[in-house]
Amino acid sequence: MFIVLIGPPGAGKGTQCKRLVECLQIPHLSTGSILRAAVRNGTEIGKAAAENMSAGKLVPDGVITEIVRLRLSEPDCENGCLFDGFPRTEPQAETLETELEKRGNKLAAVVQLVVAEEEILDRLSGRQRADDSPVVVRDRLKGFHAITDQLKRFYEAEGLLNQVDGMGTPDQVFERIQKIIDPRR
Ligand code: AMP
Repeated sequence: MFIVLIGPPGAGKGTQCKRLVECLQIPHLSTGSILRAAVRNGTEIGKAAAENMSAGKLVPDGVITEIVRLRLSEPDCENGCLFDGFPRTEPQAETLETELEKRGNKLAAVVQLVVAEEEILDRLSGRQRADDSPVVVRDRLKGFHAITDQLKRFYEAEGLLNQVDGMGTPDQVFERIQKIIDPRR
């Protein structure tokens, strides 16, 4: 099955992605990871993306849809995958639909992890990274919300959006995600 997982920084998205791909036995398609590898390897895609990435900006939709198209045509994605960090814009969401349709597939669900802003600030300040100061984190969250609001509306209209309470232990959160995923398997 094809699933999109959305969550702000500090929402525990990484942990839940790991659990989901293990449980569903599907590949994890993280556009951020693919892009970082492309930059490390100095590929054409890496060169096209590096500047935007280091400036903390979105990479152009054309570059993103190309890497997703390529990854989706690999055999291990035939029966599904977990999209992480993609789509981030409405045009990307539309391309994803088209690409899946071409393959006779569709998204099973979009899962959005919801965590209160104060909790995220607490969690991220515990990480003690230089760019995790409250001001920087608030800015990153603002950027994140601007992006997700667009996607939320898109997927709400499609009847695919499932909001999941991201508070609690990783086990509790995963149980909530499973309740959404299991009936669609
Ligand atoms: P991430 O690991 O998902 O936070 O992605 C790291 C960086 O890669 C982002 O800050 C963007 O510059 C770029 N990126 C990853 N996924 C996308 C996407 N779907 N659309 C545009 N840019 C992306």
